[in-house]
Amino acid sequence: MFHFANLLFSGPCNARCPDCIGKQIDPRRAPLNLDEYLPRGLDRFLDLIREHNIHELVLTGANTDPLLYQPLARLLDDLRAGLPAGTRLGLHSNGRLALARMDLMRRFDKLCLSVPSFDPVIYRAAMGVEGVPDVGQIMEQSGLPVKLSCLVTEINRVEVPEYLERCHQLGVRRVVLRKRFGERRDWSELLPGCWEDPLEMRFGCPVYSQQGLQVTLWDFERAQIRSLNLFSSGEISAEYLLAGEQAVALAVTYCATPRVEASYI
Ligand code: SF4
Repeated sequence: MFHFANLLFSGPCNARCPDCIGKQIDPRRAPLNLDEYLPRGLDRFLDLIREHNIHELVLTGANTDPLLYQPLARLLDDLRAGLPAGTRLGLHSNGRLALARMDLMRRFDKLCLSVPSFDPVIYRAAMGVEGVPDVGQIMEQSGLPVKLSCLVTEINRVEVPEYLERCHQLGVRRVVLRKRFGERRDWSELLPGCWEDPLEMRFGCPVYSQQGLQVTLWDFERAQIRSLNLFSSGEISAEYLLAGEQAVALAVTYCATPRVEASYI
């Protein structure tokens, strides 16, 4: 059972985050495809989404931002035509092009923005580029439900309370605080504070309520969530991170054959 599907693009990014997880992806499995139409393997991927009754498809980047994908309008046309009615389309973006591509943004059903800070100096350190996206304007102009994703590192962790306060002021309803891949410290060490009595566990990660804001403490390595992923090479995999010996050994690859074939490679 898959909770959702990811369509991942590859190419140069408009940010230079020092902790970019995309740098850990084997480049042979992530050829550039920001101008390529169709994305390789898309037809088979859509077949699998239908076969597995997956209700949500997220456009995201392996090492880039999906709003940099040039034929996005055409792709959205084809996805809407090729997927069952009611399939939700999500966008996971750094938001740097959100206002410039607002006509396309509005064609999604939900939006997750990766914003590590609202402070320009901290944002610059965490993203490697200047200019905090105007989250308030993006929310207002898109009219979409917006979740914020914040990678917590040494750069921004002391500022997290102010970050959450700013989210509250903007009317954001959901925030996901994420650990760096490989981070071994517990959340209680990383973010000392009041993290007791979660509202609920979501995919194995605790969700807290703070001033009406839902805050999830996400741990990539512990999260119990399964996605079906299409990489720019055309590879379709249940493994998100195609890097490192362990991850590769556990990858379940869906070959481009008429039936789903699970093989441990
Ligand atoms: S925005 Fe995402 S893909 Fe781009 S550099 Fe940062 S982490 Fe990597």
